[in-house]
Amino acid sequence: MKRNTFLKNIGLLSIGTYMGNIADLSKLTDGFSKADKMPVLFLGHGSPMNAIEENLWVDEFRALGKKLPQPNAILCISAHWYTKGTWVTAMEQPKTIHDFGGFPQALFDVQYPAPGDPKLAQETADLLEPVQVGLDETWGLDHGTWSVLKHLYPNANVPIIQLSIDYTKPPQFHYELAQKLKSLRNKGVLIVGSGNIIHNLRMVDFRNINNPGYGYDWAHEVQKTSNQWILDHNIDPLMNYQNQGKAFQLAVPTPDHYLPLMYAMGLRDNKDTPFLFNDDLVAGSLSMTSVLYS
Ligand code: ZN
Repeated sequence: MKRNTFLKNIGLLSIGTYMGNIADLSKLTDGFSKADKMPVLFLGHGSPMNAIEENLWVDEFRALGKKLPQPNAILCISAHWYTKGTWVTAMEQPKTIHDFGGFPQALFDVQYPAPGDPKLAQETADLLEPVQVGLDETWGLDHGTWSVLKHLYPNANVPIIQLSIDYTKPPQFHYELAQKLKSLRNKGVLIVGSGNIIHNLRMVDFRNINNPGYGYDWAHEVQKTSNQWILDHNIDPLMNYQNQGKAFQLAVPTPDHYLPLMYAMGLRDNKDTPFLFNDDLVAGSLSMTSVLYS
C-alpha cells in the first residue's frame, strides 16, 4: 500500500486511503489555530535509534510538532513504564532514562532536559480517584517518551509528566482511566500514548530493520484490520484483541506496547476525527502506525 504522508497531505491534494477528505483536513488546521482543546496522540515509537536517526517517521514527528498548538504541558503514557499500580512522575526535573542496552554511545549521550510539573501530577492523581495513584520521585523520562518527543519539541521546553501503566489491569481499565483525564485537554495538556500497535520483538527480521513497509502477512492483516477499527472507533475488538485470532496474538504477544493506544482512544471525544500517520510496518513484526485525534 502506498505510504500515507500525513503532514504533506494537510491542506493539499492526494489524500491517502485513511485520511478522510480534503474538507476534513482543512478543518483540522483551522481547529489547531484556535487551540481550545488539545489533540490526543498515539505515537508508534519503534526502535530507540529513531531518537538519533534521520528517517521518514522522524520527519513526520517534527512536522507534527510544528503544526500542533503549543501545549502548556505533556502527559505521556509510555509502554516502558509498566508497573504494579498506577504512578505519576512528580519531580521538578525528571532525568533522561536510557532504558535499553546494546545501542551506540551516541544514544546514551542523548539528554532531554524537559522540566516536570508536580502540580499537574497532583491534579492527574486527583482526577483518577478513587484509583490510587502514587506520586513518583524516582522515575523520569524513559525512551518511550523522549525518543519521540525530542522530535516534536526539540527545545525540551514543555513540562512533561509520565503516567505508568498498571500491568495487573485489563485493557478496559486503561481505557476507562484515560476517560477521567479528558478535562486536561481543555487546559492545554497534550496527552500522548507511546507504544507500538504491532510489536513482536522475538520475530523481528533484522535484515529489514530499515525497510519501511516490510511486514509478515499476519502483520499486514492486523495493520489493515486495526486501522479500520481505529477509524470506525470500534472499541470492542480493539479492547478484546486477544480474541481476534492468531494474527493478533502474534502482533500483540504482550500488552505493554499496545495499551498506550487504549489511553489515546479513551481520551477521544465524539467530535474528534482520527488521522493515521507513519502507517508503516517495519522489520516484519513491528508497526510505526500513529494516530492523531483532533
Ligand atoms: Zn518500546
